[in-house]
Amino acid sequence: MSFSHIKEQPRAVKTLKGFLSSGKIPSAMLFLGPDGIGKTLAAEAFAQALICRQPQQYLACGLCAECRALTQKIHPDVKMVNANYQASLRSEEPAKQKTLRVETIRRLRNDMELQPLAGGWKVAIVEQAHTLETEGANALLKILEEPPRQTLWILTACRKERLPKTVVSRCFVIPFTPLAENTVKELLIEKNISPDRAESLARLSEGSVGQALELAELSSYEPANPLSPFAAADALPKELFLARTQVELALHRLSQTLRLRHLRGQLSFSRVERPLRELRGLGRALKSNADPRLILTLGYLEAEPLL
Ligand SMILES: [Zn+2]
Repeated sequence: MSFSHIKEQPRAVKTLKGFLSSGKIPSAMLFLGPDGIGKTLAAEAFAQALICRQPQQYLACGLCAECRALTQKIHPDVKMVNANYQASLRSEEPAKQKTLRVETIRRLRNDMELQPLAGGWKVAIVEQAHTLETEGANALLKILEEPPRQTLWILTACRKERLPKTVVSRCFVIPFTPLAENTVKELLIEKNISPDRAESLARLSEGSVGQALELAELSSYEPANPLSPFAAADALPKELFLARTQVELALHRLSQTLRLRHLRGQLSFSRVERPLRELRGLGRALKSNADPRLILTLGYLEAEPLL
C-alpha cells in the first residue's frame, strides 16, 4: 500500500508526505470525506511509511517484513478498527456492527498501551468514526487527550458534525474530496468491470468508488418502507437521533433504487438525474437539522413516481 495507490487527493497526500519528511507526526488525525474515495488507503499508506524498516526517502519500501505484514493486514502494531474488528471481539457477524461501542474503544486502548512488537510506532485506524456511540466517543477523547507514547490515531469519517467537537479539536483534520467521474471509471475497469458498465456506474457514483461498487453488487434494492409517504413519516421513532438515522438510510435506499432502475435500462439518465439531485439536497437539509419527518415525506414524494 503506497501513496501511489491513492488517486487524486493531492492536498491530502502533500500534507501527509510533509509530516513524514519533517518527522513531525501529529498524535491524531481525522481524514474527512465521503466513503469510498481513498481515506483508508491513505491511512494505511501513512502507517506503512511509519513502520517500514527501510524507508526510502521517508516512504515505505514495500518489501520489508513490516511492509509485507501490513499489506496482508496482519501487522500486530497497526489496528484496523472497523466492523470486522468489533465483530471478532464480540464473536458476532460484521454486518451486525452498526455502531462502534465503548467496549471496543476500551479494548483498543489496552492494545495500544502494550509495547509495540516491532519496536516502533503503534497505529490505530478507526474507520467510520462517525458511528461511535456517545460513550465510545468520550472514551476515545480521553485517549486523545493523553495518548500513549509513540502511538498514532487516525480516524476516518464522512461527517464532522457526527463527532463531538472535542474529539475533532484534538485531531489534525485532513479533507478528502470526491473523485472525478473518469477516475472512478478507471478504477472500476481495474477491478474487471466492463468499460460500458464502468461508465454507467461512475456516472451514478457521486465520485465514490465505494458507492459504485455497492451499486455494482446490488441485484435488487427495493425501498424498505411500503407505507405511503405520510404513514412512513408517522412511523419514525420519536428520538430525533434515531429518526434522523432512519431517514438517512431511507434516502440512500431510494437513491440506490433509482440508480439501479437506470442501470437496468428501466429509466433514462435524464429521468433519474433531477430526483437524485433533489434527494441529495434533502440529505444535506437533514444534516442541517431539518425535520426528519418532513424530509422523509418529501423524499418519497420525489422518488415514488419512478419506483
Ligand atoms: Zn518496508
